[in-house]
Amino acid sequence: MAILEPPVRTEPRSGLHSGPFTTEPFFDFRNDDNARRMRAAITKVRAQLGREYDLIIGGKRLKTGDKIKSLNPAKSSEIVGIHQKAGKEHVEPAMTAALKAFESWSRTSVEERAALVFRTGDLLRSRKMEFMAWLVFEVSKNWAEADADVSETIDFCEFYAREALRLAKAQTPIQLPGEHDTLHYIPLGVGAVIPPWNFPCAIMAGMTLASIVSGNTVILKPSSDSPTIAAKFVELLEEAGMPEGVVNFCPGSGASFGDAVVAHSKTRYIAFTGSREVGLHINKAAATQAPGQLWIKRTILEMGGKDAIIVDADADIDSAVEGVAQAAFGFQGQKCSACSRAIIDERIYDKFLQLLKARVEKIQVGDPAENANIGAVINEGSMKTILSYIEQGKKDGRIITGGERAEGEGYFIKPTVIADIPPKSKIEQEEIFGPVLAVIKARGFDHALEIANDTEFGLTGAVYTSSRDKIERAIQEFHVGNLYINRKCTGAMVGAHPFGGFNMSGTDSKSGGPDYLYLFTQAKSVGEKI
Ligand code: NAD
Repeated sequence: MAILEPPVRTEPRSGLHSGPFTTEPFFDFRNDDNARRMRAAITKVRAQLGREYDLIIGGKRLKTGDKIKSLNPAKSSEIVGIHQKAGKEHVEPAMTAALKAFESWSRTSVEERAALVFRTGDLLRSRKMEFMAWLVFEVSKNWAEADADVSETIDFCEFYAREALRLAKAQTPIQLPGEHDTLHYIPLGVGAVIPPWNFPCAIMAGMTLASIVSGNTVILKPSSDSPTIAAKFVELLEEAGMPEGVVNFCPGSGASFGDAVVAHSKTRYIAFTGSREVGLHINKAAATQAPGQLWIKRTILEMGGKDAIIVDADADIDSAVEGVAQAAFGFQGQKCSACSRAIIDERIYDKFLQLLKARVEKIQVGDPAENANIGAVINEGSMKTILSYIEQGKKDGRIITGGERAEGEGYFIKPTVIADIPPKSKIEQEEIFGPVLAVIKARGFDHALEIANDTEFGLTGAVYTSSRDKIERAIQEFHVGNLYINRKCTGAMVGAHPFGGFNMSGTDSKSGGPDYLYLFTQAKSVGEKI
């Protein structure tokens, strides 16, 4: 049985740039040939582990004294890649290169820019399993989770390139008599793109692709936990024909290089996805005018979540158990959209817990290279934080299953379910970002909605119910950017589920949706007398 895997559709296609957008199909690993090819990709990538990658500024490769070592979370002695570490001194050269490239790239036709992005998607499609294998090693994704990440990246290539072409044809709502009135979505300038490690391909690439297809140039600072997949993606952009300086690849510490890029007077916007704390810090820093700064910096900030699934008394309980298990523990619970709270009607509470325990105990923790259901959490610091939340949970509630490390050299934690968690308690309110689910008892649907909405976040949520009235109430009252009915709260698909959160979950930028490229452009209105 496929545990914690996205739904399987058909075999991959190749190169479709026209016609309606469709999402990239996932592999079916029950098919022996697919499994054999994935093993071959893992073997190929394993032979490349430990290589060194350069900073790329204005197309030039650079080395630094300080290095970042990216480690395999499932085998912490294994180095995935060694990267240069950009410091504050690299901000000025990166900015100079990006500004220079902006002069020509911003004037390059949208067709040419879109063609680069389509080509990048084609190259990625042709090397999909290889990229998936890098994710297996660098962030401990199992095969299906790695597939979802790389497929989403291909979707972003196809979707944003189409969107840029559509935006270029935008028209004013009316034409004044005697005038020719036009609207032009022009690029902003140099953007700082700062992604997290948890969708290290899709989110990193998505913010970068939206930037460049709109005519901006980028300083890309990947997460220090996942720079290798970003280096591979930048190599792909180069192979697709990206001009020098359009994306400048600068792994570095957030607190030194990241902070300095955000503060630079010539940074026009910051596209960030990550934690609430860092997002708020960037928002504040971006609001301060640097000497010589001519604009208000735009911030696109997507942040954390404390996502809930409500299970009503009249729900299909088996389906709800499956949805909660997948959403809570897929990729070790390290998704901003992960279900970290299950809010269960008291009339089915005990039965739900009994079924959930049985389901979660089937999840195997182990090496994602062997396609275990779940792998290791990202790093040692994260493991310690998650275990300390589990200790808190033992005080505030009742461990149903898990509650400790799992065997192995890596940072493995057993999927943990903690029942009887009171609303407003620490583990009910704070983002844990690991395989820990708090289960909360609700007196009924009103109470469940009240609990669900009572955090400072508002990213994803789901409701399992067979009542139309309750579905309508959830649509009205469950205050999240991405709501799902009778399905899990993870697994947003480009085009179908534009993604972004409310409240402290972010600026609701809706990646993968029709409004996204407006955030990377500014509209110039021209009224010409004729
Ligand atoms: P993080 O905030 O620790 O880091 C994100 C990025 O910011 C990294 O590249 C990091 O180096 C950089 N950074 C850190 N300090 C900085 C500073 N002072 N200035 C500039 N950059 C700085 O987050 P993370 O641990 O990488 O990712 C996990 C978080 O991301 C979780 O909170 C998760 O919910 C969130 N997330 C949100 C979404 C979403 O769409 N809302 C998607 C994925 C992840």
